[in-house]
Amino acid sequence: MEQIKRPNGTQDVVPSQAYKWHTVEQVVKDNAGIFGFKEIRVPTFEETGLFVRSVGETTDVVSKEMYTVSSTGDKTFTLRPEGTAGVIRAALENGLLNEGLPQKVFYIVSCFRHEKAQKGRLREFHQFGCEMLGSPSPAADAELISLAHGIIDSLGLKNIVLNINSIGCPQCRAKYREALRAYFEPHRAELCETCQERLDKNPMRLLDCKSKEDQEIAKDAPVITDYLCEDCAAHFESVKKHLSIMGIDYVVNPKIVRGLDYYTRTVFEFISSDIGAQGTVCGGGRYDGLVESLGGKPTPALGFGMGLERIILTMEAQGCEFMEEKTCDLYFASMGEAAAEKAVELASMLRAEGFFAEYDLMGRGLKAQMKYADKIGAKYVIVIGDSELESGSAKLKNMTTGEQTDITLGEGISEQFAEQYYALLLDTDESFRNFADAFLTAQQEDKNEN
Ligand code: ATP
Ligand code: MG
Repeated sequence: MEQIKRPNGTQDVVPSQAYKWHTVEQVVKDNAGIFGFKEIRVPTFEETGLFVRSVGETTDVVSKEMYTVSSTGDKTFTLRPEGTAGVIRAALENGLLNEGLPQKVFYIVSCFRHEKAQKGRLREFHQFGCEMLGSPSPAADAELISLAHGIIDSLGLKNIVLNINSIGCPQCRAKYREALRAYFEPHRAELCETCQERLDKNPMRLLDCKSKEDQEIAKDAPVITDYLCEDCAAHFESVKKHLSIMGIDYVVNPKIVRGLDYYTRTVFEFISSDIGAQGTVCGGGRYDGLVESLGGKPTPALGFGMGLERIILTMEAQGCEFMEEKTCDLYFASMGEAAAEKAVELASMLRAEGFFAEYDLMGRGLKAQMKYADKIGAKYVIVIGDSELESGSAKLKNMTTGEQTDITLGEGISEQFAEQYYALLLDTDESFRNFADAFLTAQQEDKNEN
């Protein structure tokens, strides 16, 4: 029968590639944790109106890219195109803003946008996102940026440039919008169709256009930083000062306006030049008006979203290291039914102690089992046949060195195995060695004290 293929613009992560995702997920969670961000989980779909109201009607995301489904009744629902709107909704619905401020939350979610699928641009992609609610301080903007910066650094990524800008408040933007209109109007006919529309409805979106021709026209457009009111200008200066205090390099790029309408003041993008045109691996900013526009009390807030596919693409392009996946600690190869049953019994003892143990499930012969153990990278193998069953002991074989030691096949197998296994780790695994050193030193210090 014909096989059904996966939808255009989606990706499968096969088990042999999952370690890359685990690496990134671990690093983002660890970093978020030490900044005091806690995980929040929200639904994959929301009422369509939530995104229309927050992301903005004239944005590409809302006007062209949403996956909207109708349901019974007159409500329509949309698969989330981004994380912020749902998280703010949840914060309001669950009263998070009545708890201590600032509220700091993070999430790892899939997002859905009906875009032209290409490298680094998918229809289902994944974001790590952070939102901080309650602080108007420029120190908060800088803290959020430094979190994203720290993640990028921890992942080993290089050549990622932090671009920052301020797009002001609605007051400064009104004047700027008129200046942009005046600048682009004479070029109206040369602009792409979407941008002609943007010129009427939301001229700042013109600066976000991906078309090379339009970017060329926009080259000498007025810059928002010349239109900032006193408060917004002071805020921006302070953000920059805080970044300098933290030793974070940045460039001010007045063309960064971000694709969603809810941003105010600080906006930023981390851009890689190693993965082609879709180089923004992280984007975010302040959105002081959003909470109120979703029905909450006026609450300053800010956040960012990091595209995990693009992060992984960049890591691959740069040859960054990923965390190694656990491989099988001990494989039981067996001959005959009784031996196979013994393998099941012993493996479950080891698993109960947290060891990664496996045995044959395919009815293979001994030679094929050994081949399989090698293929899955088993660190040790025990062969059980009639004579081992009879004597109640077998050889534990170290698959790297070929070394063999005797091991009893019964109670206490875990302890015996652990002794061998930790010796092996001490020999081969630097991080384990460091851990063990620290442990032994601490133990010694304890002894000295007593
Ligand atoms: P772009 O300008 O590249 O279209 P965006 O401004 O639409 O990005 P955001 O809405 O800010 O992106 O989303 C945050 C991050 O999510 C982006 O910086 C990017 O890393 C990632 N991202 C956005 N859209 C996609 C997509 N279609 N496929 C993969 N990653 C994406
Ligand atoms: Mg986009």
